[in-house]
Amino acid sequence: MSSDIVFIGLGNMGLPMALNLVKAGCKVSGHDLVAASVDKFVAGGGSTGSDLPAAVAAARIVITMLPASRHVEAAYLGPNGILAQVAPGTLLIDCSTIAPEAARKVAAVARDKGFTMLDAPVSGGTGGAAAGTLTFMVGGSADGFALAKPYLEKMGKAIFHAGDNGSGQTVKVCNNMLLGILMIGSCEAIRLGMANGMDPKVLSEIMAKSSGRNWALEVYNPCPGVMENAPASKGYAGGFGVDLMLKDLGLAVENSLSTGSSVPLGALARNLYDIHSKSGAGGLDFSSIFNMLAKTEGA
Ligand code: NAD
Repeated sequence: MSSDIVFIGLGNMGLPMALNLVKAGCKVSGHDLVAASVDKFVAGGGSTGSDLPAAVAAARIVITMLPASRHVEAAYLGPNGILAQVAPGTLLIDCSTIAPEAARKVAAVARDKGFTMLDAPVSGGTGGAAAGTLTFMVGGSADGFALAKPYLEKMGKAIFHAGDNGSGQTVKVCNNMLLGILMIGSCEAIRLGMANGMDPKVLSEIMAKSSGRNWALEVYNPCPGVMENAPASKGYAGGFGVDLMLKDLGLAVENSLSTGSSVPLGALARNLYDIHSKSGAGGLDFSSIFNMLAKTEGA
């Protein structure tokens, strides 16, 4: 049985996204290199087939949710890749977070072969993926966006057309660079207040209603105990990992080099997250950078 949608990459994000398409009534065939992830997809009501090329050839839409640029390039451009199998008229949507340059490169090859391809990275984390409340930032043609939107709406709440191919990735890189910088800045401010004897809850509440307010202070406070549901109050478990933030800041710095842009704070944030990751915190939520700024005993 052929499926309308082939979904490749059933990891932390892809599995719940693909299952939301199934719940919305789409015929979805799910694929991953890890058999256990495919089993979870099938247990959740999805279908699969051992033959990915045949599934791709029969699909109307192919969606990928893979780790990084090299995986996306290999999946689409490889000798037995998606672009070698897919039937004319199939819509291609890559939801992975990758370099804007890589998104443009793959989309250009797809366009040359007559396919419409979109980059559609997401914000909202695994919680948003499970709840179907992701934000999609989409790069590609207006026609392609119009075709994809009804499907993206089954996985997300806010669906934006950012511009041409690569624009979705550019927005994602800019947003996450700003998020990394704002998180470290918020940690510094809270630590400074605490060193002056302030209650971090009172300080955060006032700053969240003053000109320093930002998303970290409003919904994701990095100081344990300030917000009951924030990762900081749960041992920095869950949430958005340090290594994922490090990857996104790396994409921002890489992009700044290729575009000749100045990102001094983005580069500093990347270096701080790199040190934090190497200290063993790679798997913790990114707000755990709060710990790196702790005052040492007796200082
Ligand atoms: P993940 O590592 O959990 O999942 C990626 C999946 O792709 C894995 O299951 C892996 O086996 C599979 N895979 C790799 N190569 C494959 C191939 N050739 N064919 C089939 N399957 C293949 O990663 P994730 O957390 O789901 O993230 C996916 C993407 O979404 C990344 O680009 C990440 O930066 C981005 N993202 C993640 C989050 C988050 O909170 N986890 C939030 C926003 C965006």
